[in-house]
Amino acid sequence: MRRILVLSGGIGGARFLRGLLRAAPEAEVTVIGNTGDDIHLFGLKVCPDLDTVMYTLGGGIHEEQGWGRADETFAVKEELAAYGVGPEWFGLGDRDFATHIVRTQMLAAGYPLSAVTEALCQRWQPGVRLLPMTDDRVETHVLIDDPDGSGNDAGADGSDGGAEGRRRAVHFQEYWVRLRAAMPAHAVVPVGADQAKPAPGVLEAIAEADVVVFPPSNPVVSVGTILAVPGIREAIADAGVPVVGVSPIIGNAPVRGMADKVLAAVGVEATAAAVARHYGPGLLDAWLVDTVDADSVAEVEAAGIRCRAVPLLMTDTEATAEMARAALTIATEVKAA
Ligand code: GDP
Ligand code: CA
Repeated sequence: MRRILVLSGGIGGARFLRGLLRAAPEAEVTVIGNTGDDIHLFGLKVCPDLDTVMYTLGGGIHEEQGWGRADETFAVKEELAAYGVGPEWFGLGDRDFATHIVRTQMLAAGYPLSAVTEALCQRWQPGVRLLPMTDDRVETHVLIDDPDGSGNDAGADGSDGGAEGRRRAVHFQEYWVRLRAAMPAHAVVPVGADQAKPAPGVLEAIAEADVVVFPPSNPVVSVGTILAVPGIREAIADAGVPVVGVSPIIGNAPVRGMADKVLAAVGVEATAAAVARHYGPGLLDAWLVDTVDADSVAEVEAAGIRCRAVPLLMTDTEATAEMARAALTIATEVKAA
């Protein structure tokens, strides 16, 4: 299992990767990062998930927060606010701003996001090859109720709102960061995904992988968005290598974040077993659930997916490395079976 391919969102993926690199120091790890969370702020292109992976593995992450830079200051944000320029709900620190300035400058000069990401990683040396899922623009939108009816009345799902009342599509970051996912999500739409092409190197990395790992990233707005780029899901299913996943749901709830809300939007229960069935045996060969969910092992295996219960809390790098070892072990079993 020398070449390991990982589909990653932000914090769940990044922390898992840190453990994986400890568990398999000799492996060549390629990460396909979600870019559906990307947002333009203050004229700058911000890629939260790519940056979380880069900063976490490169030693620049704010550890407790899980995103953004350590030792951060917010002078630029304060100055912008003094001009009345927002949004004030998205926390961009001064150090972080530099990343987005460099990225935006390179994009404006004509470099694709994949080349820009490689250039940024020259500084951070994350120890993995980090590829954005696509160089094209994809933006995850969430359909919510519009209490004041001021939004567009045509939902992102094509519904007219009608009997369900008015609905409004908001950018995923607005749903999560500004609105704190406080209301139900009716639909999650990766706008532009159907037209997007996998970034250079993505399909090749899948074809060359010895194992594909879904870390405990959000199954809908992280891994699901990557799989929505035409060609990626098919390439993984056809790669002929073990595909193993780690549940982000423990004890019928996400460890952190809003996975329960976005899972509901796609009609999936927030349980470790339901997420495995959502990926399905056509894609997923093996699945790790937490020991508190040991009862669901039989249900996952009945769905045709090999399953084992092991501790899945990423409390520190060694605990996370142990999870990664379990993932590689079950992958070896799949291969031998
Ligand atoms: P995001 O883009 O920053 O939201 O990060 P990801 O999509 O990569 O990961 C988010 C998911 O990580 C959430 O659904 C959490 O439940 C999951 N998560 C966070 N910490 C842990 C942990 O310690 N163990 C497990 N199993 N999942 C975790
Ligand atoms: Ca994310």
